[in-house]
Amino acid sequence: MELLEAGNSLPSGPDAAKRKVCYFYDPEVGNYYYGQGHPMKPHRIRMTHSLLSHYGLLGHMSVLKPFPARDRDLCRFHADDYVSFLRSITPETQQDQLRQLKRFNVGEDCPVFDGLYSFCQTYAGGSVGGAVKLNHGLCDIAINWAGGLHHAKKCEASGFCYVNDIVLAILELLKHHDRVLYVDIDIHHGDGVEEAFYTTDRVMTVSFHKFGDYFPGTGDIRDIGYGKGKYYSLNVPLDDGIDDESYQSLFKPIIGKVMEVFKPGAVVLQCGADSLSGDRLGCFNLSIKGHAECVRYMRSFNVPLLLLGGGGYTIRNVARCWCYETGVALGVEVEDKMPPHEYFEYFGPDYTLHVAPSNMENKNSRQLLEGIRSTLLDQLSKLRHAPSVQFQERPPDTELPEADEDQEDADERWDPDSDMEVDDERKPVSNGMQSGRVKRETADAEIKDQKDQKGVAEHEDEVDRMAEDGASSKASDVISMLTEETARIKVEPDNSNKPSDPPAPVFSKY
Ligand SMILES: [Zn+2]
Repeated sequence: MELLEAGNSLPSGPDAAKRKVCYFYDPEVGNYYYGQGHPMKPHRIRMTHSLLSHYGLLGHMSVLKPFPARDRDLCRFHADDYVSFLRSITPETQQDQLRQLKRFNVGEDCPVFDGLYSFCQTYAGGSVGGAVKLNHGLCDIAINWAGGLHHAKKCEASGFCYVNDIVLAILELLKHHDRVLYVDIDIHHGDGVEEAFYTTDRVMTVSFHKFGDYFPGTGDIRDIGYGKGKYYSLNVPLDDGIDDESYQSLFKPIIGKVMEVFKPGAVVLQCGADSLSGDRLGCFNLSIKGHAECVRYMRSFNVPLLLLGGGGYTIRNVARCWCYETGVALGVEVEDKMPPHEYFEYFGPDYTLHVAPSNMENKNSRQLLEGIRSTLLDQLSKLRHAPSVQFQERPPDTELPEADEDQEDADERWDPDSDMEVDDERKPVSNGMQSGRVKRETADAEIKDQKDQKGVAEHEDEVDRMAEDGASSKASDVISMLTEETARIKVEPDNSNKPSDPPAPVFSKY
């Protein structure tokens, strides 16, 4: 197991000014359609691709078509019955499955549409494929703009997300890296990823998001992880109208400190573009350059980096943003004047890549920002040493049969560098992943009331009981490497001092 220090761990060398970039794209992805009036539009991925193509950026990176994730790949995080449901449900049969739809939270925000399962396989395949490429040192940065669906839970769809490609990609990275950092700049809290790794110290999650009467309602600054994972979840709650300068006054000092103390072997950056100014569902005021500054900064650490998409509902700006950020990944400054291409008319009247932020009020006062910054740096000071892991056998890699877009022979799509022997046998071992919703521990023990204390006790009992039962787990490959904590923790959430999920008008929240 290589234990590489931050700053010199790129396959192409410590000072590589240029990075070797793998970009995953499936030409079918733009055809999936959530339905009339639904704000989530996979077409934005095709618009992004078209911009990349006409700016000439595709020639600077390996363009790969993701191999669809298989059932067993998805089942490394998701429940078997949930994956079976996603595979079998169709718009025609959904009327006969009302109970299942309700159980898995599929129907309204997360509708059933034609090709739903292959859509999931495609976007998850790109993220896992990117992780495999990074693991093998075949690139420095892997990009999958179709991924980043951070709200999906183990057995539940949420917030336009069905399977959690980010959790799956992180599980893949954990096969080769002791520690993985997850950073989320979507305007919404990265709840699905945080929950999955809430009790492990091998994955640190840091989410910057709008907090307060906003979907999904989680992401309080006091939610810091639980058990072994205490201090390994960070939440940065923000208010409406945040601008580039305010955002970076938190992002850089916090992420800089995280890199220093956690020393991740790989980083996953979810680049949700609904934090941009003028987003149809968002309320922040970031420019594309301000948003991309997060990519630039993460890239500067010379650690293998997986860039994923996420939210983003003013689709012309999403395409602008992810095109510009692809340029940042490559070390190419993209011209503002847009080249003619098939979606050119979307970008009028200026036909430029950048758009000015608005004059909306920034509700994040200097004082508020300073308070957030010092609270989080204080939490980080409790993380003095990067944890090390006692490794057992490395689990086999996920096969990586993705291909260059223009490759035709399916047999040639198999990556010769990938370990092809895959052990199909599921071993019942436990992992450190969180499966249920677990009561959140707050940083300040003082604020816990009696009820809270009781909740913790119950939680610990539950963990012990599950351990004694030898509860088997999914994630068969990774489990032995994650913490020795028990797999299936099932504890009801205790929301006694947390905001409850806001009542949920369809489509107004993500
Ligand atoms: Zn979002």
